[in-house]
Amino acid sequence: MHKMSFFSKKIINWQKINGRNNLPWQAKSPYHVWISEIMLQQTQVKTVVPYFHKFINSFPSIKSLAESNLDNVLASWSGLGYYTRAKNIHLTSKIIHEKYNGSIPNNYDQLIELPGIGESTAGALLSLAFDEPGIILDGNVKRVLSRVLANQSPINHSKTQNELKKFAKEILPKKNFRIYSQGMMDLGSLICTSLNPSCESCPIKNKCKSFELNLQNSIPVKTSKNPKKERNIKWVLISSKDKVLLKRNKSKGVWQNLWLFPEENYFDDKKFNLLEEKESLPLVTHNLSHQKLSISTKKYFLKNKDRLPIDRRGFVWVNKKESVKMGIPKPVKLILENHL
Ligand code: SF4
Repeated sequence: MHKMSFFSKKIINWQKINGRNNLPWQAKSPYHVWISEIMLQQTQVKTVVPYFHKFINSFPSIKSLAESNLDNVLASWSGLGYYTRAKNIHLTSKIIHEKYNGSIPNNYDQLIELPGIGESTAGALLSLAFDEPGIILDGNVKRVLSRVLANQSPINHSKTQNELKKFAKEILPKKNFRIYSQGMMDLGSLICTSLNPSCESCPIKNKCKSFELNLQNSIPVKTSKNPKKERNIKWVLISSKDKVLLKRNKSKGVWQNLWLFPEENYFDDKKFNLLEEKESLPLVTHNLSHQKLSISTKKYFLKNKDRLPIDRRGFVWVNKKESVKMGIPKPVKLILENHL
């Protein structure tokens, strides 16, 4: 049997019975598929589901997203991390609204030009949203393919990526692209897991070289990453009655445009003299893709908030209820919820 029909038939039949068929974005709206695909980059399905509902409730259409301001988009994304994704979604919604009359294009060349849409996301959109041929190469699918081939080159090398892409093209079916792509992702997530894959239940075990050679736990091969840079942050949490002081982060890079606590070095002695020191909060560590943050926070109380000279354009006094609805990263949310 031709390897293309073998693979696709097995995957498609398996997906129909064993795959995930009730995910909230599987309603076939290209808009829903697009938002879910961006959220699923670097993030697991179970984490994404509540964020997806919240986002779609706030922005039910591409038009409503394009007409909103970035602050509201970041607030809806708050806690999901990798905030560049939210900025790109906002930017892309404006392009789709203006250039494509509010409809996501079903053409690879047009998709790949949109901010935040790379090769794999374009492939996901083509197949999952439009049932067109499209190749997904997310982490789950790459693991399946590298194991089927027993490819022992480091998975993050471009040569390996090209080999996997070539193979993915060869085994693409002639129809049922939506079910097939979902099946490949489901197989990677449910059966061909990183540790101890359930090969006995795998629909393609008879064609899997790693299974044959008992190599499944050593593939994909990962090269050791550079250790993350450590960064220390010193925040001050200033509360006054029921309000707390937040500062918009204008610096480029991590958490740009989100609301944070001001850093200790913003305050000179004169300002500190107005504050009553309360306590040092427990250290919070937070991992980003390339940095490990150690955040120490001191809590202060201020009797009369109007006495503290601050730049009104970059700071805001808000109550706790409002603050947790703003565009704030996870550590700020954690501190507000536990210590205010
Ligand atoms: S047989 Fe095992 S290693 Fe091979 S694709 Fe299936 S689950 Fe993965």
